[in-house]
Amino acid sequence: MTYTLKTHAMLTRRGFGLGLGAVASLPLLGRKALAFESADVVVVGGGLAGLNAALNLEAEGYSVIVLEAADYIGGRTRTLDLPIGPVNAGGQTIGPYYARVRDLAHRLGVSMIPAPGRVATGNYVNGELVASKDWSGSKANKTVGAERVIQPGSMEFHYMASNNPLPDVESWTDGGQAHLDVSIARYMLGKGASEEALRLAAVTMNVFDLSTGSALAYLRDLKRLAWGMENTDDKSRSTYGASASDGFEYNEIAGGTQRLSEAMAGALKGEVRLNQPVRSILMTGESVEVQTANGDRFKSKYVVSAVPFSALRNIDVFPHFKGTQRTAVRHSGHGNTVRVFMEYSAPFWEDDIGEAGLYTDTAIERVFALTNEEGEIYGLNCWVNGNAAYRLDQLPTEVVGDFVVETLGKIRPASKGKVRALKVHSWAKHSASGCCRHVFEAGQVTEWADVMAKPHNRLHLAGEQTRSIENGLEAAAKSGERAAFEIMELLG
Ligand SMILES: Cc1cc2nc3c(=O)[nH]c(=O)nc-3n(C[C@H](O)[C@H](O)[C@H](O)COP(=O)(O)OP(=O)(O)OC[C@H]3O[C@@H](n4cnc5c(N)ncnc54)[C@H](O)[C@@H]3O)c2cc1C
Repeated sequence: MTYTLKTHAMLTRRGFGLGLGAVASLPLLGRKALAFESADVVVVGGGLAGLNAALNLEAEGYSVIVLEAADYIGGRTRTLDLPIGPVNAGGQTIGPYYARVRDLAHRLGVSMIPAPGRVATGNYVNGELVASKDWSGSKANKTVGAERVIQPGSMEFHYMASNNPLPDVESWTDGGQAHLDVSIARYMLGKGASEEALRLAAVTMNVFDLSTGSALAYLRDLKRLAWGMENTDDKSRSTYGASASDGFEYNEIAGGTQRLSEAMAGALKGEVRLNQPVRSILMTGESVEVQTANGDRFKSKYVVSAVPFSALRNIDVFPHFKGTQRTAVRHSGHGNTVRVFMEYSAPFWEDDIGEAGLYTDTAIERVFALTNEEGEIYGLNCWVNGNAAYRLDQLPTEVVGDFVVETLGKIRPASKGKVRALKVHSWAKHSASGCCRHVFEAGQVTEWADVMAKPHNRLHLAGEQTRSIENGLEAAAKSGERAAFEIMELLG
């Protein structure tokens, strides 16, 4: 919905239990300049975290206004409608422990489907196209010793998941593990990794690069995944736990994850205000004034910031954040992922190594096969993480799709003329959140993990980056719940 004076008047008339500033007799333009809507709480950001904060607050009888910068609901749960069907540009897999996300889906009548199984993935490394079964003996394989039997895409798990030194997942911030808050590169080298293993792992690990990413934060995620899964031999789990082979239930939202966010928004009393980027949050005495880019003003007793720090640092917050928390908001790393969705006209992989997915050490990093519930491949998805994603962002968006298709054609000639790019989505470039995920760099867990979720004056912090032990979608949902409970305690 485009925001106009008319919709402003319509929304304020609708009320939602909200108050209109005492200027109703002024002509419309004067009213626009001076009027404000009020509610107990203003939530900034209509992603999973903000929506769950709003739902929890409303459930206890508090009035809430949700302000969203984008023209759609759901932030990083975005689903794209493409000719090959709906595809998730962001959060997709619902892990076995995602209690809140699963509960929300059940309560709101949103269907979940089993997550599709993995499709075999071959390799293009050191200039050679190699089937996974031939990897260990290939001359392209320049790893050493026990590493040689590990597929390039599983190298990170080989070194990070096995013999995880964290005693339990909650210990990651207790100070006793600070010696692990070093770069992933240093940690892996300490475990005996070769330089080549490091180079291969850098492709899959969702950090800027291995010389900066914190080993401790990564070990925390893997420890969380390992709960209850100690006995599995599977070394190919993703950070979100997408693997059907360990007997746990992994799901997705039918029709795309955005359907869950939309159902959450639909369950709110008021509608989420789209196209309302917040520019300032002013906290004075007993109240908060939130102003959006077009000058609209909202008053509340408390405010929830449910945007990543990559977006929060662009909002003027008064009084300013202080000390370590200020440093964390200003300097937290928020990494990027670029995804290129593609269609294919013929199963070209049958003409070379027989595996539709491809791990590569090139600029296009990885290509996954998109599969439906029947396991049929209906499209392809190039996935580029971290610094490599920022490098792709340096190209004009309109050429990135062709660049990926051409690169695939060079390294996999069988694909030439059979693949077409449908959509390029860079989370840094094409979202108000400006990121794919929060990334701790070495030393930052020790320095500021304990202040990231601390309330600041009347501002309570939610969003995936404030997580403790949960991950992804569940972390976002949990953070919204936490921020709502903090405010409920204060409102009484
Ligand atoms: C490529 C990718 C794959 C992923 N895969 C998975 C997965 O398989 N499983 C999993 O569990 N998780 C996954 N995730 C992570 C998961 O999607 C996120 O952790 C979660 O959706 C974050 O929710 P959030 O509410 O914290 O943030 P967001 O969804 O980013 O919500 C923040 C909202 O704030 C809005 N906003 C920003 N600035 C302003 C402003 N100034 N004013 C108003 N609004 C503003 C944004 O537009 C956005 O809607 C993935 C993420 C990505 C990007």
